[in-house]
Order: sequence, then structure tokens, then C-alpha cells
Amino acid sequence: MVVVMQEGATEDSVQNVINKLMDMGFDIHRSTGARHTVLGAVGAKVDFDIRDIELLEGVEEVLRITAPYKLASRHFRPEGTLVALDRGVTIGGEEVVVMAGPCSVESPGQIDSVAASVAASGARVLRGGAFKPRSSPYSFQGMGQPGLELMRRAAEKHNLCVVSEVMDHVQIPMMLDYVDMLQVGARNMQNYNLLRELGKVTKPVLLKRGISATIEELLLSAEYIMAGGNYNVVLCERGIRTFDTYLRNTLDIAAIPVIKKLSHLPIVVDPSHGTGRRDKVASMARASVAAGADGLLIEVHNDPEKALSDGAQSLFPEQFEQLMKELRMIAPAVGRRI
Ligand code: PEP
Ligand code: MN
Repeated sequence: MVVVMQEGATEDSVQNVINKLMDMGFDIHRSTGARHTVLGAVGAKVDFDIRDIELLEGVEEVLRITAPYKLASRHFRPEGTLVALDRGVTIGGEEVVVMAGPCSVESPGQIDSVAASVAASGARVLRGGAFKPRSSPYSFQGMGQPGLELMRRAAEKHNLCVVSEVMDHVQIPMMLDYVDMLQVGARNMQNYNLLRELGKVTKPVLLKRGISATIEELLLSAEYIMAGGNYNVVLCERGIRTFDTYLRNTLDIAAIPVIKKLSHLPIVVDPSHGTGRRDKVASMARASVAAGADGLLIEVHNDPEKALSDGAQSLFPEQFEQLMKELRMIAPAVGRRI
């Protein structure tokens, strides 16, 4: 249930509603918007009379949310959520935030070279995996903490934020020293222990859609993080598995407007994993921006043919530079900027 308070409702009346809801057994999540305070009430099982809330002083509207996710629902924050990273980067506003970098951090020279080129082309966030969820246990598993150190150094040098994947909840405290946003990979979207632990931190979380997850399941996974108190969640469409096998995945561009309607959380798109081939990445990135994506996550490598992971879907730096020029033309046509 969501309780929308009247514009200018006093703090006393807000507290009174909170107390009443807590007496009924609800957990309260408060969102203070530009005009209205909104209270998300979750958890109570007992039947109650909605009028008991509607009649309290300062209450404008009470909405019973029928979707199983409540805090991730658009009703909780009708104006949309802005997720702030460091260096003035905000996801969910007018700027389409481009996050770019290699699939995996491989060496000091590699990460510095990629960071320099993507920063020069206009990326705001450096992506790169130090802990890699590989299908085969014999494939490169990532550099671990030393990889995060290299990434942080390269990001500082080129004025970028850092996003990197956390695979296990025990890695969270250590990773907080290096990253501005913690990525939950597709394979971990329903790792509920991990999601609950991420609800306890304040740093933003980039939550990728599971390989065969529905949009509702994605939003329920976001709800796990938000229920713990961390509302800084950015969703990521990265392609799903369908009956078509031509590409690595089927990028669900329609998920962008669907999620915009259902949820207030920003949605970014990963056309690299969404297609699995570098010759298809640019067109899907352009389509994503045109469809309203709040950001892009793109794999770029200084020498893709020698990459230790996902080389075939990694752009050459020159291709990324050209793509950014095209995106800068598309964004204004849909009221955005890059
Ligand atoms: C990645 O971003 O490198 C990655 C492993 O992505 P996904 O979890 O979407 O497969
Ligand atoms: Mn990858």
C-alpha cells in the first residue's frame, strides 16, 4: 500500500500516519518527493479498512498496490528516481549515462588504455569485471581485488566512476572501497542472500535482468534490495534467452517503456551481452537511447581479438567513439543529452 500525503502536510501528520501504519504491523518506507511525501507500507498480512488511513489528517490518497512489488512500483515515486554516483554523475535524469570498459580487467596497461579512450569519447563510468561469473570453471575467472585496484586507479586518472560485479555477499565490504556502483550479474539476479545484503549498503546497485527472468521477477529482485533500505537501484536490460539462437541473447528493447511505466527506477541497457556480437552493438545502443533508456553499459577493449573474455562483443575504441557521436545526435531528439 502507498499513502500519498497532501502537499504541505505537516511533519506531525506524517508521523501520525506512520505510527498508525506501524501499529497495524506495516514496515514503513518514506519517500520525500518535490511536492509530496509518499509512504510505502509493506509487510502486514491482516485485513484492514483502507478508510482508517484515508481519513487521517494530511492524507491525500491511499493506493492499494496489486503488483507484488511495492517499493519498486511507480506509485512509490511517481516523479522517478535519480541515482547519484560520484563526480556529478546521476542516472535517471536528463543525461543518458554511458558506462563503458572491458568485460574483465586484465592488466594495468589494458585498463588504463580503455579508460583513457572511453573517457575521451564521453563515457562517465568505467565498467570492468574483477570477479567473473563464467559458464566454464576453466575460463578466466577475473583478477579479483588486484583488478579492482587497477580499475580504481585508471578511473581516478581519467575522471570516471567505477561499476564492477559483486558475485558473493562476502565481497561487499571490500568492494565498497573501490567501486561507485555494485553490479549484480544476470546469473545472480535471484541470489536473494546477495540482494538482501545489498539492501544494507547505501552505494547504488546495478541490477541486471536474469537470463530467463520476466520483468516482474526483475522488479521483485529490486524490491529485495529496496526492502532493506537501499533505494539506489538501477535496472539493466541485458537480453534474455528465447527460442531464437542466432544471437547470444534477445535484447528486449520493449522492456524499456514497460519498466518506465511500472517502476520509478532508472533502466539502462547492455547491448553487448544483449547481442553477443560487436557488429550488432551500435544499432541496439542507438535503439535503446531512442526508446528512452537512462544509460548504456557497453563493452570496449583496446585489443578485442586478444581479450580474455567477451572479445567478440567488445567494441574497438574507434567504434565506441563513432557510436558516441551518433548517440549525441539521437539523445536530443528524445529530450535527453549525452
Ligand atoms: C558482464 O557485465 O560482464 C556480465 C557478466 O554480464 P551478465 O551478468 O549480464 O552476463
Ligand atoms: Mn562480459
